[in-house]
Amino acid sequence: MKIICIGRNYVLHAQELNNPIPEIPVWFMKPETAIITKDRPFFYPEFSQDIHFETELVFRISKVGKYIEERFADTYYDAIGIGFDLTARDLQQEFKVKGLPWEPAKAFDGSAPISDFIPIEEFSDIQNITFSMKKNGVVMQTGKSSEMLFNIHRIISYVSQFVTLKIGDLIFTGTPAGVGSIEVGDKLEAFIGERLMLTTEIK
Ligand code: ZN
Repeated sequence: MKIICIGRNYVLHAQELNNPIPEIPVWFMKPETAIITKDRPFFYPEFSQDIHFETELVFRISKVGKYIEERFADTYYDAIGIGFDLTARDLQQEFKVKGLPWEPAKAFDGSAPISDFIPIEEFSDIQNITFSMKKNGVVMQTGKSSEMLFNIHRIISYVSQFVTLKIGDLIFTGTPAGVGSIEVGDKLEAFIGERLMLTTEIK
């Protein structure tokens, strides 16, 4: 399986990192080894001094597809969870300046803690899901799926022009504003609506 991540999908987040508002979805990938399953700890890596949390809704692909039309995209996922797109911001800044790929800053082992998934039938409106995260009990990020620049259907349609989506693939849909650093000893919690979905302790 693969993890596809969308960058700069919320206007306020793009602005907080001084990035332009994209005209087409910005995407990159993480490998399977990035996944930390529900509530297991994240071990701070030695290659970065500035790991950031980014809290994102995650859609699970349930059907194989290529060149998926936007109007049919809603039949290609079956569940939604929440995850942290952990990012070595210091490395990413360096690579951005040099025009190099982001993978070392984004795709490292453990960079994708992910919750369990909620079947889409349990959501009344996919385009209006609220989510949030707390660091050490303090709310740091709140988001709404309606605030995405490119919604999940557009993302599926766009990305599937390039790569075949397969059952079990995951799509991280971008972070709202409020990203920030983590340190050893921190506790991150992610919520969909009021429901606590994911706890990640930093070790
Ligand atoms: Zn992200």
